[in-house]
Amino acid sequence: MVTASLQARPFDLPTFDLPTFPTVADFEQSIAPPRGETVTEVAPDVVRVVVPVPFRGLGAVNCYLLRGADGWTVVDTGLQTPDALAAWREALATLGLQVGDIAQIVLTHHHPDHLGFAGRLQAQASAVRKGNVPVWLSAREQEIVGIVWTDRRERNAATETFFARCGLPDPAAANFQQREVDGMRQALEPFPETFRTLVPGATIPLGAHTFEILLTPGHSDGHCAFYDASDGLLLVGDHVLPHITPNIALWPDVEPDPLGRYRASLHALRDLEVSLALPGHGGLLRAWSQRIDELLAHHDDRLDAMHRAVGDGATVFEVARQVFRTDRLDRHQLRMAVAETLAHLEHLVATDRLRREEPGTDEHAPWIYHPTP
Ligand SMILES: [Zn+2]
Ligand SMILES: [Zn+2]
Repeated sequence: MVTASLQARPFDLPTFDLPTFPTVADFEQSIAPPRGETVTEVAPDVVRVVVPVPFRGLGAVNCYLLRGADGWTVVDTGLQTPDALAAWREALATLGLQVGDIAQIVLTHHHPDHLGFAGRLQAQASAVRKGNVPVWLSAREQEIVGIVWTDRRERNAATETFFARCGLPDPAAANFQQREVDGMRQALEPFPETFRTLVPGATIPLGAHTFEILLTPGHSDGHCAFYDASDGLLLVGDHVLPHITPNIALWPDVEPDPLGRYRASLHALRDLEVSLALPGHGGLLRAWSQRIDELLAHHDDRLDAMHRAVGDGATVFEVARQVFRTDRLDRHQLRMAVAETLAHLEHLVATDRLRREEPGTDEHAPWIYHPTP
């Protein structure tokens, strides 16, 4: 009966041809979605929905539904693909909900696998509730949504110069193709009509819980996590993942030294009393401090490896080619490898282990990194 009423009010989904996109995870590893049910109650009145995503190596994103007195809160949404929509239909049917039972949508960060369905879900829930269903996102993440999805032409030129600075032999070939951008837009649009701003340090009621909003930059400049100190529940997004290392990358629009900010935010959260962390990908996470130590150690190793790979002097691409074996990477993976390598090299500069030689007047001349004496 519940299913029938859902079918009477289906998500109206456009048809589109979605190209394959790069994984946003460290692509030397891969992650399977948690085995078993699409819909699982992971804590009292907190339900995980495993939503498939078309990124190689990532498999699925975890979205969460929290039951409250005035309706349900959705945390992260997945992209608008047929598989993803099927997962949402299954979740609502299993819980006996309709789209109008969704009272608010909260996003940990702007990445498409988290933001992608928010606009359509907001529109549909708002129509049924005859009011605005808010989509919450931090101020910096809202800014990035504007940067990434507008002025594409200008941004493409800037990205090509960026790949040249990184020393790629064919920066134009590495750049984003219009078909990729168009395909992704179709899986995201409509964007949320309006956002409400998550303010770090403030609290927000999600379902029956009151969470503190924690700014957790690194994977994304304005990434937020949500912590309930009363029971140690942490909605952690992509800041800390159980089986893969979150991608830390430096792109032209990213604030300086993302790896430095990531390490600082890992340290800041390390001693939080976390009984259960609910990540954006993979299974439940309970060994909180231990996982943070593993991530810190991983990046220490990567920093040392990249420092060694610089030798007497090297471009970003030359380092990436050694560390990621780039002859085996396709164009998408190459971009990710370069941006992740750059994040590490720039952190070595910020910590005085390397210096960056500025290129001359040639706008395609690469940055060259050298060890400090
Ligand atoms: Zn992400
Ligand atoms: Zn993600």
